[in-house]
Amino acid sequence: MTNHYNAIIVGQGIAGTLISYALLSRGQSVYVIDKPQAYAASKAAAGLINPITGRFYTKSWMIDDLLPAAIKMYESLEEMLEMQYWFPGDIYRTLHNVKQCNDWSARLLQAPYQDYAKAATHVGPYSGRVVIGEGVALISGGGRVEVAKLNQAYRAYLLSTDSFSEEIFDYDQLLYNDTQVRYGDVTADYIVFAEGAGVLKNRLFKHLPLRPAKGEAVHIKCEDISEKQDILKHMQYLVPTESSNTFWSGGGFKWQYKTEEPTEEWKEKQTTELTEFIDARYDIVNHLAGVRPCVKDRKPLIGRHPTHSKVYLFNGLGTKGTSLGPYFAEMLAEHILHRGSIIPEVDLNRFTIQ
Ligand SMILES: Cc1cc2nc3c(=O)[nH]c(=O)nc-3n(C[C@H](O)[C@H](O)[C@H](O)COP(=O)(O)OP(=O)(O)OC[C@H]3O[C@@H](n4cnc5c(N)ncnc54)[C@H](O)[C@@H]3O)c2cc1C
Repeated sequence: MTNHYNAIIVGQGIAGTLISYALLSRGQSVYVIDKPQAYAASKAAAGLINPITGRFYTKSWMIDDLLPAAIKMYESLEEMLEMQYWFPGDIYRTLHNVKQCNDWSARLLQAPYQDYAKAATHVGPYSGRVVIGEGVALISGGGRVEVAKLNQAYRAYLLSTDSFSEEIFDYDQLLYNDTQVRYGDVTADYIVFAEGAGVLKNRLFKHLPLRPAKGEAVHIKCEDISEKQDILKHMQYLVPTESSNTFWSGGGFKWQYKTEEPTEEWKEKQTTELTEFIDARYDIVNHLAGVRPCVKDRKPLIGRHPTHSKVYLFNGLGTKGTSLGPYFAEMLAEHILHRGSIIPEVDLNRFTIQ
């Protein structure tokens, strides 16, 4: 017997969760296919949304639009799944020299930064537990999403509505024409691929310039720091997690790597840096790795396949899946259902098949 849905979604990292939710919210039926892979980025992410980033304290691209869309969608998911996933919090960022202090002071005076850049003289709840530098910047308006927990709960919801299959998607089994798609005994009006770095195995999108970047993270438990909300960025991030006295710390960009799994080499380096600035005893309780689906021009890849009208992509969320995901999931859903436009910066058709 054939089961028919409006959409088949391949991949259920944060991208698959958000695009399927945006479609569900518009009354579409979805059938989501995912099998956890070592490279999956969402399981390793801190889920940070940081409105001001980088060496020059620059406002994150489109943050004024992304932030309200993100909060709206995460709060809506919280209501449906009856659990908190979005945790607003200030980010304390230490400044290491006079130049950095001056640069930050300049930001405090600039109108576009007024909502996010604040003055601070201490690192809030981390005071006395970390060795800080010359000064402190306070970034407000951001926070973190419990990505792994959200994906897990959303998956349970999909399972309870017969909308999920845990399996490796076999690209050779996919059939499509101009009116529908078929995968095994499932048919659908259209298919959305959201496989993160797994898209490298998808021949339909092999022309796109994905530059996967491996990162790693540890969870550390430190009985002397009990913060649940605010985030610290010193030499490394300390991001509270749902477990008490436990913090996410990680990052790193490897464009070439022998394994997608966590490595001892990275953990040793991270531990050395953490020990240099945490003035308290801590234990590593978890070690994770993932591969970010980064793109050559650092912008998402969304839209309709150039020649197959029933095939869509939601990918390229790179280092910022939690902030980019909701806004662009809404954009893609509107595009699929109502021919809404995709802004040129993220339209996958900015790269052509050679
Ligand atoms: C260490 C680290 C820290 C990070 N920190 C942050 C942060 O603080 N804030 C932030 O916004 N972003 C962060 N990111 C980036 C963020 O994780 C990514 O932007 C986001 O997870 C990408 O989501 P995705 O769903 O596109 O890909 P993924 O999370 O990789 O999900 C893809 C899913 O598709 C599945 N899949 C793929 N192919 C198949 C197939 N053929 N069959 C079945 N299933 C398949 C995979 O198993 C996986 O579940 C971080 C990433 C890393 C690695």
